[in-house]
Amino acid sequence: MLIFVLNAGSSSLKFRVFDMSDKSVIAEGGCERIGIDGKLKYKNSKGLKYDERYPMPTHDEAFRRVTELLMTGDTAVIKSFDEIAAVGHRVVHGGYKLVKSELVTEEVIKEIERFTDFAPLHTPSQVRTIRACVNLFGPEKPQVAVFDTAFHQTMPPKAYIYGIPYEYYKKYHIRRYGFHGISHDYVSEHTAELMGRDITSIKMVVCHLGNGSTIAAIDGGKSVDCSTGFGTFDGLMMGTRSGQVDPAALFYLSKREGLSVDDLNELLTKKSGLLGISGISSDDREVENALFNGNERAALARTIQCYQVRRFIGGYSFAMGGLDAIVFTAGLGENSPSLREEVLQGLEAFGIELDLKKNEKTIRGKEGDISTVNSKVKIYVVPTNEELKIASDTIMVAGSHGLL
Ligand code: AMP
Repeated sequence: MLIFVLNAGSSSLKFRVFDMSDKSVIAEGGCERIGIDGKLKYKNSKGLKYDERYPMPTHDEAFRRVTELLMTGDTAVIKSFDEIAAVGHRVVHGGYKLVKSELVTEEVIKEIERFTDFAPLHTPSQVRTIRACVNLFGPEKPQVAVFDTAFHQTMPPKAYIYGIPYEYYKKYHIRRYGFHGISHDYVSEHTAELMGRDITSIKMVVCHLGNGSTIAAIDGGKSVDCSTGFGTFDGLMMGTRSGQVDPAALFYLSKREGLSVDDLNELLTKKSGLLGISGISSDDREVENALFNGNERAALARTIQCYQVRRFIGGYSFAMGGLDAIVFTAGLGENSPSLREEVLQGLEAFGIELDLKKNEKTIRGKEGDISTVNSKVKIYVVPTNEELKIASDTIMVAGSHGLL
C-alpha cells in the first residue's frame, strides 16, 4: 500500500512516498524557495537522483510538479494516482479542538484555518497544499491531517495554563500547546520497543534537539509537559530562536531600541539562539567546529545549550516523580556525542551514567542504548521519523473510516 506524505513549510514542500508493506521509501525529496524562484530535489528507490530549478510561485505549482515527477519519465515510480492509497499531511497547529489525527474534510480544513494566527508561517501553505491535493486527486482520495500539537494535548492544565489573567485563556485560547509532537510520539513509542517494555509503565524525557527544539516529559506514553509553548520559541535556545526570555527584557529593549512587535518577533525567531550568541551560525556543526577551534562565543553558546537541556531533564524527572529513560533525537540530539556528554556529565548520583564509547559511536542514523549497564536511568539515541509516523497515522485514520 502506497502512502504519500507531504510536509509543507512557509516556502518549502517536503514529500515522501512509502510502500507500507515493508515501510520502504520509494520516492522522496523537497521543493525550496517556493514563492521566490523554486528549486526541487528528488530521488527514488531505483537510485535516480534529480535536481531542477522550476518556477513555483505558490505551493500549488510545487505540488503539481512533484506529482508529475512521480508519474512521468525517468523519475516515475507510479503509473497513476490510483496506486496511492492515501495522503498524509503534516499540520503544525491543530488549535485546541484537533487533538488527534483527522480525516481531511471541509470542516477540518476550516478548523485548521481558524488557528492560522497561531502558526502564521506554516498554516497557509499547509492548507493550500491540502486543497491542491483535493483538487488533483479528487475528494474520494483519503487524506489525513497529522498535527504537531496533538500529542501534547494530554498535558494537564497545571502544565499548559500561563500565569496571566484566565480570561485570555477562555477568550483567545492562549496556553502552552507544544510542538514537535509527531516526533515525540514516534520516538517515545520506538524507545519503549527498544526497552522491551510496555510504554504505559515508562517515564521518559525526550529531547528533540534540532534546528527547532522541544523537550517533552512523557509519562506512560502521554505528554505531560513540554518546553515549547503557545509559539515555537519558548523553552530552549534553538538555531535562531531565543528560547525562554523574561518579557521585562523585551519591554526594555522595545523602549530603548524603538522595536515594534514585528521587530521583536524577528529578533526572537530569526536573530537569536545559537546564531545570536555565537555570532557565527545557526547551524550547530559550524558552531561546534568553531568551539573545537577555541572560539569563546561558540563555547558559551554550547554551554548554555547543554545547561538548558540538563535543567529541563532535571525539572521534568522531578515533575513526573521519577525517570526511566532519557532519549536524544533530531539533527543535534542524534549526531552530537559531545553535546550529549556535556548535558549528562556528573549525574551518576542520580543513576544516570553515560557509556562514553557507545555515545561516540551512536551517530548518523544509528539507534540504541548509550548508558552503562549500571545506569538506573537508561539513555537512548533514537533517530526520529516524523514522515513514517504520519504514514502510519494515515493508514490508521483512513482505515478506521473504512476507506482503505
Ligand atoms: P534538524 O532540524 O533535526 O534537521 O537538525 C538540524 C541541526 O542538527 C543543525 O543545527 C545541524 O547542525 C545539527 N546537526 C546535524 N548533524 C550534526 C552533527 N554531525 N554534529 C552536530 N550537529 C549536527
